[in-house]
Amino acid sequence: MRASAWASRARAHRGLRPLSVADLVAAFEVPVADWLPGGGGFALMEDGLPTPICIELVDDAGTSALAEVEQRVILRAMDNLGTRTDAAEGYTTFRRFLVEHATAPHGDAARAVRAVGIDLSEVYEPVAAGAKLATPSGDVFYPCPRCGWPLAVRGSSLSCARSATCLAEGSWFRLEKQSVIPLGKLDSPQPRPCTGVAVLRVGVWRYTTLPGLAEIELATRLEEIAGVQVELWPFIDRYDLDVRLGEHQWRVDVKDQTSAMRLARHLAERPAREATWIVVPDARRDQVPILHRNVPPEARYLFAYSSEFVRRVKGAL
Ligand SMILES: [Zn+2]
Repeated sequence: MRASAWASRARAHRGLRPLSVADLVAAFEVPVADWLPGGGGFALMEDGLPTPICIELVDDAGTSALAEVEQRVILRAMDNLGTRTDAAEGYTTFRRFLVEHATAPHGDAARAVRAVGIDLSEVYEPVAAGAKLATPSGDVFYPCPRCGWPLAVRGSSLSCARSATCLAEGSWFRLEKQSVIPLGKLDSPQPRPCTGVAVLRVGVWRYTTLPGLAEIELATRLEEIAGVQVELWPFIDRYDLDVRLGEHQWRVDVKDQTSAMRLARHLAERPAREATWIVVPDARRDQVPILHRNVPPEARYLFAYSSEFVRRVKGAL
């Protein structure tokens, strides 16, 4: 009811009739811009299920329990490593493992997690029912070719349904008898047995693996520039990339979020102690002007999309 009151108020400004709760629920299946002035061109629901972009908006919300779970795991790992002489290296190794192993053989996952003093069940779990396919030789799953998480099975469709970025890159397939037909640009994955496999819990996958892929990609591009040194996930400071070139230094946080306005509010409420670059993936370059407009300069953030940031570092040569 509150949502229908809010939507109706926004519509009243444009002389549009109010929406009842039933109207609003029906409207979830059509593009938001069709019923909410200034809304996006995407729908919130499709065939009775929330769309990836809808799930991302919920996940990105400040009260997201998923983000808190992930924070707890990462902070506990840092705590447990504490003052060990190899703490920084152990932390980076753990983070990289999570980014590169959305699924892993049970033994590998247990070793990686135990190395930072955390129980396997806090970070990994068995393959979810919604990703399993029964075959004569036992249950199998298909890993997403981009992020490695098990693809969701819906009827004859297989997709990385919770990640708008994976979907945009083409992680979408059709099951036909024994074969998997690509519907996007990514090649079909091979089936893997569910037995003995550990799958990252959704909060860790969403808040460590997905942004981590963008972080590693940016680090790789920067390291191709002669003389540039990149440290991923510096242990003591809470940002993603420490980039150095001669006497230049950039502190970088990579943000791969759906709502630029929500990100802007989050940053405005948490000013940086030192100038920090917020870098968004190229596919989200439209967010840069929104962030510029909505985060006050005294918060000490600077904004760029990936390619623009790489050019800036090259320009410092
Ligand atoms: Zn994926």
